[in-house]
Amino acid sequence: METVQFESQKELSSILREIQTNFGPKYGVLFKCHLSHWNRMSDQNQDLWLKSTSSAPRLLDGSHCWRGRAPLARELFMDTIKEISTENSTTQKSSESRFRANFQGEVDEAFDPYLVLSQLIDPDPNKPGFLTGLRLPSIDQFGFRSPCDISSIIEPFDETNNQVNLTPKYSFVDLHTDYGADGLSTVIGECRKIWLLYPPTDNNLNAMKSIDGQRGKLLRLVHQLEGGVLVETTSSHAIFIPAGCAHATFTLQGGYLVTKDFTTVKSLNAIASFIVYGLDETLPTEAREVCFDWFERCLDVTLAQQHVTTAISAWLKAEAKLASWASTHRRWRVNVRRLWEHHCQDSVVSCPCDLQEPTSSFFQHFSSVHMGSLLSSSQLRRCR
Ligand SMILES: [Zn+2]
Ligand SMILES: [Zn+2]
Repeated sequence: METVQFESQKELSSILREIQTNFGPKYGVLFKCHLSHWNRMSDQNQDLWLKSTSSAPRLLDGSHCWRGRAPLARELFMDTIKEISTENSTTQKSSESRFRANFQGEVDEAFDPYLVLSQLIDPDPNKPGFLTGLRLPSIDQFGFRSPCDISSIIEPFDETNNQVNLTPKYSFVDLHTDYGADGLSTVIGECRKIWLLYPPTDNNLNAMKSIDGQRGKLLRLVHQLEGGVLVETTSSHAIFIPAGCAHATFTLQGGYLVTKDFTTVKSLNAIASFIVYGLDETLPTEAREVCFDWFERCLDVTLAQQHVTTAISAWLKAEAKLASWASTHRRWRVNVRRLWEHHCQDSVVSCPCDLQEPTSSFFQHFSSVHMGSLLSSSQLRRCR
């Protein structure tokens, strides 16, 4: 056991040294932080993950993510050139469905996407840029999907939103949380990345909220965050990214990253926590809507799979924030109300809020007390 720990410590140190060499001495602070290698986590760390989100991050076999073979980097490169030239000939920009150039950790409309391509051949440590949100036809043609072995951890539902990021060497994606979905990412070609991931515990969400809008999040927060996990991905790998976890990536060898979103029956608590801490408020408008859409999908999956108590506790936790969102988003309000009606009309659970009268059914109680904001006034009268 001691030898294993020693080996993993050596491996961890050599990776951190590589980060420092390529991304600057400021990342030397990572040596002083509690980080675990993903498959050598302490029970305590494992617990932080399992209690706050769908599971802990895991490495999977990347070759199983494709119906046949994986696409080659050169095939994605050809797609990218076409995508950029089409983008340049249209005027609509900055939508969630278009790709974006990023520079110094921010979306930068002025950064030339062809410059990113040139950095694949000749990486620029001083001005590294990368592209996110590319929609390349090869990804669907080659049949990108969750590998079977993911079901040993979680069961993915509603797989969607296949996207490609083009990240030359020196690309650094600062600490951020995707909008609440679980994710799967796999690298193509010679690309190699280091991921730091943190579970959505109260401590970590609070820390993320406290530096909302500031740059250099990883360096600012690294001493406050708990449960940090380090994962190295190469082309033989896919990484499972649990819902709501904050993550940062360092690209040590440039190339493509292919990603997709999904949800699980264990993700609703993490999405609710994300909303409770107001982290959705830090997202651009469109991404914030995507966040509440994931809440809706995940609620559907959770209720459909009969995890009613999980759904109730996530709902109660975020009740005030959900009510406020519902008040200005009619379609969401109607859909979510239908989900509760459809799945819980006859549920025989009792509500953990202790306000349920012995004479009223769960659904009567839940509709009038916890879904008031989702009902019209005539519907409310009928519940009482
Ligand atoms: Zn991300
Ligand atoms: Zn209640």
